[in-house]
Amino acid sequence: MTKFTDLGLSQPVLQALDMKGYDTPTPIQAQAIPPVLEGRDLMGIAQTGTGKTAAFMLPSIDNLREADNQTPFKSCRMLVLAPTRELAGQIAQSAKDYGAMAGLKVQSIVGGTSVNKDRNKLHRGTDILVATPGRLLDLIDQKAFTLDKVEILVLDEADQMLDLGFIHALRRISQLVPEDRQTLFFSATMPKQIQELVGKYCRNPVKVSVTPESTTAERIDQYLFMVQQDEKQTLLEMILKERHEVPGKFERVLIFARTKHGCDRIVKKLGQAGVPANAIHGNKSQPQRERALDEFKRAKTPILVATDVAARGIDIPGVSHVLNYELPNVPEQYVHRIGRTARAGRDGVAIAFCAEDERDYLKDIRKKTDAEFERLPLPDNFRAVVEGVGPTKREQKPRLAKPKVRPAGGAAKKTKPKQKHTARKGKPEGAGQGRPQGGKPGGGRNRNRNRNRSRAAQG
Ligand code: AMP
Repeated sequence: MTKFTDLGLSQPVLQALDMKGYDTPTPIQAQAIPPVLEGRDLMGIAQTGTGKTAAFMLPSIDNLREADNQTPFKSCRMLVLAPTRELAGQIAQSAKDYGAMAGLKVQSIVGGTSVNKDRNKLHRGTDILVATPGRLLDLIDQKAFTLDKVEILVLDEADQMLDLGFIHALRRISQLVPEDRQTLFFSATMPKQIQELVGKYCRNPVKVSVTPESTTAERIDQYLFMVQQDEKQTLLEMILKERHEVPGKFERVLIFARTKHGCDRIVKKLGQAGVPANAIHGNKSQPQRERALDEFKRAKTPILVATDVAARGIDIPGVSHVLNYELPNVPEQYVHRIGRTARAGRDGVAIAFCAEDERDYLKDIRKKTDAEFERLPLPDNFRAVVEGVGPTKREQKPRLAKPKVRPAGGAAKKTKPKQKHTARKGKPEGAGQGRPQGGKPGGGRNRNRNRNRSRAAQG
């Protein structure tokens, strides 16, 4: 097996890795580090969670040390572009960790913070700058920063930058960096527009791919509930409070919703049901986002409801479950979402809630990603709970109580949870194990039934 010491990295970088406790490179690191050390351009197809940050940061730190140029005034030697504030923050932190022994100055600038502070911060220049494209161009337009000393340019999560509308910013930036530079280009997917960008930015890049395009990560077990849209909240509450038949031990649950408003609504209703959760999306202020992420990381509030954009690139080891409250309409987005779990060699569970009008999305996801979903039955008492406490009092729909549709994984697919998950389930239901929040030991379904009864009595 390849070791970091086999890859040609310098002693200070190896020491920093030792301090982090990493001894074995991930596949993308093993493939990318040697050519990057040689100064080659690189095009990497990799999702977050594969260790790609170190794959570009470690050899770049060594290349910067080797070139030994001065920290340039109002400019930087290495520029890393990232789509979101969170990802930029994480990359900057990694640069600081990995470069601890190399004496390189690291700064990051992102939108939503004071431009004046950023201007002051960059006045004396920096060795490594991690930036979101918009904020970087603001400073360039104000003549507070230039890119003419850039030796290494990294585009991280390029497909997401395009999704966020940064295409013009990226084109402009490509005109502002010196021709003579090294470019490292990373994207989780390779649609045509990205390939064009690669052509613009890279010269004869070495291509490295750690997951084939649009396939879902191998260590993620994927499950599916067929459930009506207006019954999803009830199902979510039952899952989170009672751990209804859901495989895997809950540690941190990341829930995806399509809209900011949707995130807030889910959080509010979970709160009313006694399940504390936080939301993270574009309307939240930076301190709010940071607090939510921090509480999630520390497992103080281990349920986080997010939009795609906000959650992109979040690196939180220990996301045990990704729950797709709504399915994304773009299959690639599904890949990104479930990529939040099963990071750094761990297993993960992804659960999708699919409503009738989302069947086409599900079909696309399965076609594009070869995802094999195992369909889970709705809780035994689900219908009763929906009837009693659901948002609308509706007639029971036999299709949901006794699904007629064939299992989403195909006729031959199992409809019962796999054995290994049953084994992993731990204590009997209601015993409290793995429950992220709320729900007293011994509560569980009975408590819900009681609640249901009392509501029914009131009604
Ligand atoms: P990334 O894909 O760069 O976001 O990295 C995903 C996670 O894996 C981060 O928490 C890294 O700190 C961690 N990681 C990266 N490289 C290694 C490694 N060689 N061994 C163990 N963990 C790693």
